[in-house]
Amino acid sequence: MTVVDTTATTGTAWMLCPLCDTMIYRKRYERASRVCPECDGHGMLTADQRVEQLLDADSARPIATAPTVTDPLGFTDTRAYPERVRQARESTDLPEAIRCVRGTVDGTPIVLAVMDFRFLGGSLGSAVGEAVTAAAEAALADRAPLVLVTASGGARMQEGIVALMQMAKTSRALRRLDDAGVLTISIISDPTYGGVAASFATATDIIVAEPGARLGFAGPRVIRQTIGQTLPEGFQTAEFLLEHGIVDMICHRWALRARLSRLVAMTVRPPLRTEPGDPDALVTDPTALTVGESWDRVRAARRLDRPTTLDYLAGAFDDFV
Ligand SMILES: [Zn+2]
Repeated sequence: MTVVDTTATTGTAWMLCPLCDTMIYRKRYERASRVCPECDGHGMLTADQRVEQLLDADSARPIATAPTVTDPLGFTDTRAYPERVRQARESTDLPEAIRCVRGTVDGTPIVLAVMDFRFLGGSLGSAVGEAVTAAAEAALADRAPLVLVTASGGARMQEGIVALMQMAKTSRALRRLDDAGVLTISIISDPTYGGVAASFATATDIIVAEPGARLGFAGPRVIRQTIGQTLPEGFQTAEFLLEHGIVDMICHRWALRARLSRLVAMTVRPPLRTEPGDPDALVTDPTALTVGESWDRVRAARRLDRPTTLDYLAGAFDDFV
């Protein structure tokens, strides 16, 4: 798996697109929310940029997260794990690989949890698992939609089994939202792998992916070596997964906010129209419906211009995605 961090803002005025290698003007790339003007490739965003892109200005309020065990194994490879965390904090200015906030999208309250790949590959450790759970609990308390933006290489290996346990913990937190009928949406950004792909990223009601985003458990190289077969073209890309029913929709980054706004707005119930004599008033009493003769109904069913599914959708709902 190749991952190129395009979030660095320092350096020269020109840069190479990590996907098509075209020389592009960095300012233009930044203005386009890190979407390449040549190949439309979606580069990596920081958690702060996501929050800014998706929420109404100044509406973000941080969600407090309980402290977790920072180094359960006393893990050291070439460097001690706490040292790696400290460095990640310094370079990203984030306490962990995720940012969780309450906020609004065009006025609709939501809870938003955004992963940041720059922080140890967006890996799922105990602190990230606790943050996702806290976000889910906030969404449950507010009965507001939970929106998760994922970017991760998978479970944080330095925390061993404690990291893997976060898959169960976050899945359980999402299940409680499911039971309570609270909408959950994940936005898959490139790349989303391992324990994150196998837990909260794909355990939501609606799975939206950015174009070209890769989503999978093990990477393609590992799978190829394990099964000894050639993988199909586009394997693990958003487009391939949409075709195979894993992803519900693909949404270009520039359209993401508007799409999210429409999805979450559906959770806010408009007041019922109840004035007497209103022809558009909602009929809730079945006996109030006019029912014709059987033969008339058979003939109506055979009419070529009878309403289609789309006509019913247009008649019944204000919006349909
Ligand atoms: Zn490009």
